[in-house]
Amino acid sequence: MITCRTATELHTRAAEGALTRVETVRYRGHMALCGPCQRYRAQLGLTQGVLRCLPEETPPDALLDRLAEVVDEVGPAR
Ligand SMILES: [Zn+2]
Repeated sequence: MITCRTATELHTRAAEGALTRVETVRYRGHMALCGPCQRYRAQLGLTQGVLRCLPEETPPDALLDRLAEVVDEVGPAR
């Protein structure tokens, strides 16, 4: 099984459908069994959704800082 660090590195490419077959099997296997990575991926999706709703101008620093804190809190523990 791949590590949480590797799974984290594959999140973006997995979302883009850019993984090889072997990477896909390993990634999905890890994601099916790892609660921290499932929460991390969900949090990333939420963060991306929030960012898509923001206006084109640069978000306030306070918002970016808070988003970074939330992502850090939910990130993989291993
Ligand atoms: Zn994991």
